[in-house]
Amino acid sequence: MSVSGTSPFYNQEHEDFRSQVRRFVEREIVPHIEHWEGAEQLPRELHRKAADAGLLQIGFPEQAGGVEVPDLFYMIVLTEELARAGSGGLIASLMSHGIATPPICHAGSAEQIARFAAPVLAGEKIGALAITEPSGGSDVAALKTRAVRDGEHYVVNGSKTFITSGMRADYITCAVRTGGEGMGGISLLVIEANTAGFSRSPLQKMGWWASDTASLYFQDCRVSVANRIGPENMGFMAIMMNFNQERIMLATQAWAFAKVCYEDSLAYARERQTFGKPLIRNQVIRHKLADMKMRLDAVKAHLDILAWRVSHKQMPVAEVCLLKNHACTALEWIANEAMQIFGGAGYLRGSRVERIYRETKVLTIGGGSLEIMKDLAGKQMGY
Ligand SMILES: Cc1cc2nc3c(=O)[nH]c(=O)nc-3n(C[C@H](O)[C@H](O)[C@H](O)COP(=O)(O)OP(=O)(O)OC[C@H]3O[C@@H](n4cnc5c(N)ncnc54)[C@H](O)[C@@H]3O)c2cc1C
Repeated sequence: MSVSGTSPFYNQEHEDFRSQVRRFVEREIVPHIEHWEGAEQLPRELHRKAADAGLLQIGFPEQAGGVEVPDLFYMIVLTEELARAGSGGLIASLMSHGIATPPICHAGSAEQIARFAAPVLAGEKIGALAITEPSGGSDVAALKTRAVRDGEHYVVNGSKTFITSGMRADYITCAVRTGGEGMGGISLLVIEANTAGFSRSPLQKMGWWASDTASLYFQDCRVSVANRIGPENMGFMAIMMNFNQERIMLATQAWAFAKVCYEDSLAYARERQTFGKPLIRNQVIRHKLADMKMRLDAVKAHLDILAWRVSHKQMPVAEVCLLKNHACTALEWIANEAMQIFGGAGYLRGSRVERIYRETKVLTIGGGSLEIMKDLAGKQMGY
């Protein structure tokens, strides 16, 4: 029985949705994932197929073509099932609309939602979120990319880096400086990839290979004022709200990939023979597996409680930061133990455990690093 299957937070509808996602993953992803990892990007048609299967729309408003669901547990089930393909890059890139599109749906006009959110949720276009700059990602309020008003346009100059789906994105939800220094001078603009003066280059990474990650460059890009999401200089709050959601989803990914590591190690320990008996007949290996399960279940309980609170319109910022750290450090520990149980076989390319092990670090850095999460949680709690 799955960990989530034992939880009171999940009902038959979640389980029916799980079966639907599982079939999609087995049919459309698992046979191709090795190829996409090598190609360092996903085919665009996968977005269309995922939309046709109803996966991209979950949790988004109907106005944008989304499917409204009563709680976050649908997103957890979706992530858990996508993680069975054993590729964090797949989730990051296929689901990059999950960070790019919410600000448009929350703060955008009906016209902006129809233009920029609906085609992405339909799998026809690809969205990316561009906050981080070469000068630093942790200090969001210090971002430098400048947008200067010129009549009915902004003229944008600057650059972004580490942008997920950045090479393929059609619409980039981009944080720019329209005002003075600090958090009060930031706005969000949707920059279309065909804008004159926009260019990009790919970045090669330790993990998340299936995700195209890019540096983006804006040189005198003229972007219509109609592409600004929400009021001028009010973008920082939208970015922070988006981060909360992103952090819960990154914690979910960490838990889901830790679960894959645990399940694969357990199967391997049962099958692998050393010294004339299955590996699992050694107490030291059983203890490793028991410790992995203990941490996995602790993270899941933590995740489910916060998912329930967020589903009930609470936004426990400090707790979400700590959840992200809890889940990501548990993944690091569990992936490390999984590699040890696999021995040399774990070091070879091609297994889920090998890939997940390479992908642990991005979760402790992206969307707010361990250090920044602790500090923000502390401040929120009045330390
Ligand atoms: C694969 C990948 C995909 C990404 N996708 C996106 C994306 O789609 N969109 C996007 O906008 N960004 C994206 N990012 C960027 C990511 O969010 C940043 O890497 C992250 O916010 C950290 O910023 P930085 O790398 O510039 O590190 P820095 O801010 O330079 O920090 C470096 C180190 O110093 C620590 N540090 C910094 N300040 C302090 C402090 N005050 N006290 C203690 N420690 C501190 C940090 O914790 C970190 O460990 C992605 C990153 C990666 C690796």
